[in-house]
Amino acid sequence: MAVTVEYDVVVAGAGAAGMTGALAAARNGLSTVVIEKAAVFGGSAARSGAGIWVPNNEVVLAAGVPDTPAQADTYLAAVVGAEVPAVRRQAFLANGPAAISFVLTWTPLRFQWMGGYPDYYPELSGGMPNGRSIEPAAFDANILGDEYANLNPAYIPTPAGTVIYDVDYKWLALIARHPKGLATATDIVWRYLQLAAQGQNPITMGQALAGGLRAGLIAADVPVWLNTPLTELIVENGRVAGVLATRDGQQLEIRARRGVLIGSGGFEHNLAMRQQYQAAPIGVDWTVGAASNTGDGIRAGQEAGAALGLMDDSWWGPMIPLPDGPYFCLSERTLPGNVFVDGTGKRFVNEAAPYSDVVHVMYAGAHFPCWMIHDQQYRNRYLFQEIAPALPYPASWYANGALVSDWTIEGLAAKIGVPPAALRATVDRFNTLAKAGKDTDFKRGDSAYDAYFADPTNTPSPCLSALSLPPYYAFKIVPGDLGTKGGLVTDARARVLRPDGTVIPGLYAAGNASAAVMGHSYAGAGSTIGPAMTFGYTAGLEMAAST
Ligand SMILES: Cc1cc2nc3c(=O)[nH]c(=O)nc-3n(C[C@H](O)[C@H](O)[C@H](O)COP(=O)(O)OP(=O)(O)OC[C@H]3O[C@@H](n4cnc5c(N)ncnc54)[C@H](O)[C@@H]3O)c2cc1C
Repeated sequence: MAVTVEYDVVVAGAGAAGMTGALAAARNGLSTVVIEKAAVFGGSAARSGAGIWVPNNEVVLAAGVPDTPAQADTYLAAVVGAEVPAVRRQAFLANGPAAISFVLTWTPLRFQWMGGYPDYYPELSGGMPNGRSIEPAAFDANILGDEYANLNPAYIPTPAGTVIYDVDYKWLALIARHPKGLATATDIVWRYLQLAAQGQNPITMGQALAGGLRAGLIAADVPVWLNTPLTELIVENGRVAGVLATRDGQQLEIRARRGVLIGSGGFEHNLAMRQQYQAAPIGVDWTVGAASNTGDGIRAGQEAGAALGLMDDSWWGPMIPLPDGPYFCLSERTLPGNVFVDGTGKRFVNEAAPYSDVVHVMYAGAHFPCWMIHDQQYRNRYLFQEIAPALPYPASWYANGALVSDWTIEGLAAKIGVPPAALRATVDRFNTLAKAGKDTDFKRGDSAYDAYFADPTNTPSPCLSALSLPPYYAFKIVPGDLGTKGGLVTDARARVLRPDGTVIPGLYAAGNASAAVMGHSYAGAGSTIGPAMTFGYTAGLEMAAST
């Protein structure tokens, strides 16, 4: 027999959207519970870098970023296009700054500007070459007490004894090339020592974001029930009146007087949904999203009559299928001295373009398989994943087929199954462009974005370097993602809509359970978490204002 409990608000999912929404509901006077499917809280948000893209928030303005609402509006309109109704885009821009201020007020979280990290299309009108993204400052995990043990681990945990921010990676990758690399390495240890001396247990990036939001919920007396998946929505007279869930093997009916917020993330780990909605090749092995994100809330909303949107798309990123899981290569792809080729042995993309765009190009032209090729000079110069410059790559990478090497370009081509003459011609052509410092073929280096994870000591272009020092290496590149971006269609107030555009009363959605306000695009670092927090916050306020 189902146990029945009642709250004003039920939130499904303790990630970026769900926890922000629950906090907004609770701090506006509503009794609120969060149900979380996994044995841990934080979802993908806890695994993430926690870059947050919310133009004109108080943190970027205080840092002196010359942002204005008009510039942000112009930029976002150009980036997103007509795919998303302008009113929803504008609601994000209008409510985002308040969402950040709200989180600063009601959680111990502090944020800092990711200075220098450009918008992804900085040359568009309103784009910011020095960026307008923020990330959490170090957060003291001691604040969470025992609950810290329930925080979903980071995708790649930072080494013990360090305090690393998103903006440090650019310099760490250049440790063998630029004095700021070594200075940053020293700094990340020094920061730790300072905070540890104060008795803190500092955590950063997604760990800080999820931990800080959870701390806000603890202070607001909002319970987060782990191991409690939403299974179904209760719909009565056309209105969502609560949820069915399971907890400790028992069925639970949780009635919601004001509303239900679906913050249960995307469907990145649901093979059937991916095959139904997304183009081949597709699977669940190339995503780095939280394993518990299997589209449950999207399905439940659909059964309650909701429309779905953007289901074909994801927050894509080129990944290397390393033995212990897909590796989201960012600086490795953008640093000079590498080239992407497909099965024909030809280049097909600006390797340094925003990660979502690179995978869109892969799918659009069926550029599978794909390989990232570099030479020994590149290996000698740059950090690659956690492998220090000049060190050999692990044998296990070769063993699982993610990496191949050879002393000649032709030999490498034979090993990866591409025409040797074509690969030779591609590398020769690329080397000519690199020596001239201008990629007239794919415009790599034309945008300030391309130069962010590049090498300022490389000339004539920080983004282009010839491949001429053997041996040569080829990494397999697969179309991976940070999570999916399609889901329940919502309006500017985070209310879930039916296919005819009418509102389903009592039902709200935010984050990757909802169709992204970014449409098919990605405005800048934090374009998933910024809107997730903003529309979670909006939903909380809406439920407080509803009757
Ligand atoms: C390695 C990595 C780096 C990233 N870096 C960034 C970045 O810097 N900036 C950025 O903007 N984005 C980044 N992302 C993406 C970002 O983390 C996600 O897009 C974001 O967390 C989505 O927020 P969400 O609240 O929708 O989902 P999540 O944060 O994933 O939370 C969803 C929660 O819902 C729970 N859930 C699922 N099903 C149910 C159910 N049936 N009942 C109850 N609960 C359920 C899940 O267990 C999970 O805890 C990154 C992602 C990864 C993996």
